[in-house]
Amino acid sequence: MTVASKETLGFQAEVKQLLQLMIHSLYSNKEIFLRELISNASDASDKLRFEGIAHPDWYGDDPELKITVGFDKADRTLTIADNGIGMSREEVISNLGTIARSGTKEFFSKLSGDQQKDAALIGQFGVGFYSAFIIADRITVETRRAGLPATDGVRWESDGSGEFTVESIDRPQRGTLIKLHLREGEDDFLSSYKLKSIIRKYSDHISLPIQMKKEAWDEEKKEQVVTDELESINQSSALWARAKSEITPEQFDDFYKHLSHDYENPLCYSLNRVEGRSEFTQLLYVPAKAPFDLWDRNKRGGIKLYVKRVFIMDDAEQLMPMYLRFVTGVVDSVDLPLNVSREILQESRDVKAIRESSTKRVLSMLEELANSEDAAKKEKYHTFWAQFGQVLKEGIGEDQANQERILKLLRFASTHTDSTDQNVSLAEYVSRMKEGQDKIYYVTGDTFNAAKNSPHLEIFRKKGVEVLLLTDRVDEWMLSFFTEFDGKQVASVAKGGLDLGALSDEKEKQEHEETEKDFKDLLERMKTVLTDKAKDVRVTFRLTDSPACLVADENELSGNLLRMLKAAGQEAPDTKPILEINPEHPLLLKLKTNDAQFNEWTNVLFDQALLAEGGQLNDPAGFVKRINHLLLSS
Ligand code: ADP
Ligand code: MG
Repeated sequence: MTVASKETLGFQAEVKQLLQLMIHSLYSNKEIFLRELISNASDASDKLRFEGIAHPDWYGDDPELKITVGFDKADRTLTIADNGIGMSREEVISNLGTIARSGTKEFFSKLSGDQQKDAALIGQFGVGFYSAFIIADRITVETRRAGLPATDGVRWESDGSGEFTVESIDRPQRGTLIKLHLREGEDDFLSSYKLKSIIRKYSDHISLPIQMKKEAWDEEKKEQVVTDELESINQSSALWARAKSEITPEQFDDFYKHLSHDYENPLCYSLNRVEGRSEFTQLLYVPAKAPFDLWDRNKRGGIKLYVKRVFIMDDAEQLMPMYLRFVTGVVDSVDLPLNVSREILQESRDVKAIRESSTKRVLSMLEELANSEDAAKKEKYHTFWAQFGQVLKEGIGEDQANQERILKLLRFASTHTDSTDQNVSLAEYVSRMKEGQDKIYYVTGDTFNAAKNSPHLEIFRKKGVEVLLLTDRVDEWMLSFFTEFDGKQVASVAKGGLDLGALSDEKEKQEHEETEKDFKDLLERMKTVLTDKAKDVRVTFRLTDSPACLVADENELSGNLLRMLKAAGQEAPDTKPILEINPEHPLLLKLKTNDAQFNEWTNVLFDQALLAEGGQLNDPAGFVKRINHLLLSS
């Protein structure tokens, strides 16, 4: 193969943007570069272990996989070297010149230019190799892919400003060496003590040895000098393979940060060895913050699959249901074949067993937080719900087998708390139900205020009956999958006739019947005026302040859901709502005796009921004209 020995290439636009952003926003966190480079070296060794199964000759006379970290005070350089898989020239150009990660575009479109906000986002995106430019003004990478001849070595070099060079070199050993030429003022890193403490902090659990040269006291120079003897800095056994009792909470947290590239500690974790028909270890974490791509439909989830300690693949989406896609962790299986592919995973019974078990573990972790009396744990559940509640709700439809458990984990805003906080569980609601109340009532709306101020709630407020306020997009969809909790029917306050059951007394019922008779003629006339707009017009006793409201028929889609479908460009059935009027409202009493402007009044009543539930008028200008006319003539 003949290639130009040395060529100069430009970084992909996103890389340039990332470099700029990182150097400015991550400066106070600069030591993470070492974690990133060690994590890459460890990934490279994982890949060699995996590909080496089919090519044992690739190990040659260098079978012990390890990472070495060193520094040179005179040169002001740091080096991180591995004898893992290495890279070919093409791989170098694409891996260290572009960002291939999925979701990159969406990530960059979310950046605001506000450094603090962007810094938080970039942490979630994961900065990787390029983070080394925070402390280095020049980086040299020398690498050779396992299996290629020594003449196929490659040197990559860049100052991080926009271009890099690649040239062919002779490199007898496989693997990768990264040399960082430190920026002015970063000499702190030229110290064994400092490097060791960073490695222990971030990379202790890396499953292969990280070695540094030992230091010894030199009597003549009267200082510590670096010797040629190597020592291992880390524990070098896979964290999940150790006994639970030997792992500290800090180590669990650090491992999470390594897996997720997150800066924050996770909310909770769970490590289990499962034995039986299927044998595996699972270490699962619930993060404290939603990742930037939580809503990306292509996101695969955060579970790394290992088979007998050999890394197989990232983001094994079959190991966790979609609605738990925020969970990060490791599954290490004893039963799966090493050459397992995503296609095989889809069919495997072992995988099904792992998924079921992992799902139960996550639900147990969440239950433990949700049901705890401990204030700190309660607060954690609150955080969890704010970040991931909407995703968990997908589980109501997606995972019927665990529906009962997920229902208990749901939290809602409610008329009882009158706060946007979603804090009320269904069990709590049931425990507060009024004497004679047999249903769980809810109202849906586009926003918290729309739901909270819905006219449909008036009678419930008057009677002191609690109503759940549902404003997440997924709510309507979720509600189509459950109709009952704890034997109580779940009912919309905006659907069907109002049946308060034992909540209203005999006397009330009689009065209602009389009022209905009294209004019969008026209703007929209104119905004629509204033939095109309303399916029916009837008297209601659910309103106390408003003159009218719209309701959907028992079996039809609610107005809110119809609007959502239309907004999403979906086909929505053409159904007309029912107009309900408040017989006690002065406007209605006026209407009974007003013939001249009957049409106008009736239309205005309908239109304002539509506006009040967050709907859009068909003819806003006509509405305004009518209102003005009525105002002038009153
Ligand atoms: P990530 O690790 O998330 O993929 P990085 O920016 O850290 O992103 O690294 C980019 C890519 O460069 C890696 O996916 C890998 O293919 C390659 N790479 C980086 N370091 C090494 C290394 N030490 N050995 C082999 N390949 C490496
Ligand atoms: Mg990386």
